[in-house]
Amino acid sequence: MSLYAVLGYPVGHSLSPRIHEAFAALTGRAVRYERREVPPGQLAAALSALAADGGQGANITVPLKGEAFALAARLSARARRARAVNTLSREDGGWAGDNTDGAGLVCDLTVNCGWPLRDRRVFLAGAGGAAQGIAGPLLDAGIAALVVFNRTPGRAEALVAACADPRAVVASAGCADGPFDLVINATAAGLSGGLPALPAGLFAGAAAYDLMYGPKARAFLSYARAHGARQVADGLGMLVEQAAESFFVWHGVRPPTAPVLSRLRAEIDQV
Ligand code: NAP
Repeated sequence: MSLYAVLGYPVGHSLSPRIHEAFAALTGRAVRYERREVPPGQLAAALSALAADGGQGANITVPLKGEAFALAARLSARARRARAVNTLSREDGGWAGDNTDGAGLVCDLTVNCGWPLRDRRVFLAGAGGAAQGIAGPLLDAGIAALVVFNRTPGRAEALVAACADPRAVVASAGCADGPFDLVINATAAGLSGGLPALPAGLFAGAAAYDLMYGPKARAFLSYARAHGARQVADGLGMLVEQAAESFFVWHGVRPPTAPVLSRLRAEIDQV
């Protein structure tokens, strides 16, 4: 049985073990998948311990994605572009780093939600690790514009500069660059049940997506609906799809995601 783990701080809430165990069952693989709580600054030691236990791979979650990026002996192109790593694979020379967040989001938006991205104008709230991971894949999906807005403007400017693409711009004052087809909340405001401060008039006729899922996404999605969003979705599908992409990186097999997503959805909707 091969060993995998999700490393983060805190990590007790993570659904990753359930998702990966379900994928393993659906694809006939023997996989053990653990949660390991790792305080910031201790990822190198935790990875050594995981390797000593026979660990083949790890998912990396908040707040360790930057640390994983710095520690990886080899980086995929999408991890380099995101400057963050959420998937590590054990190799002879150490750990190979990848980032599956953007692929997971694009798959959820286009396949599960049925929201096409080509030629769409996208407003992205947030410029942290998750926003870094999704900006490049959204541009690759053919969007017409990516307008980035962040509480700390310097981070939005850095994200746009890193995109090095004329379609990616920082939101103008008062957000005169609308209307938008899609508004994505990639901030952590929902962790405390709150909403990011956003320009007025953003949601009229747009679809709204929160990277958070379940109860933590409700404040943003209710606000979006009340302000004219025509469709809303939370980030549960992204969570399952980025896990499926990690599973593919590790096992070379693409697991079916629909049964896992519908099972988790039914549970979360009852909370
Ligand atoms: P992060 O690196 O800590 O960045 C946090 C971002 O949220 C920054 O842009 C920060 O702005 C902003 N922010 C935090 N509190 C805010 C508030 N009260 N008002 C406005 N902006 C606020 O975190 P991250 O890794 O980007 O993750 C962001 C969220 O995405 C997390 O909640 C995470 O759970 C979620 N996520 C979901 C998935 C999924 O699969 N569904 C995958 C990855 C991440 P400043 O720069 O001003 O601090």
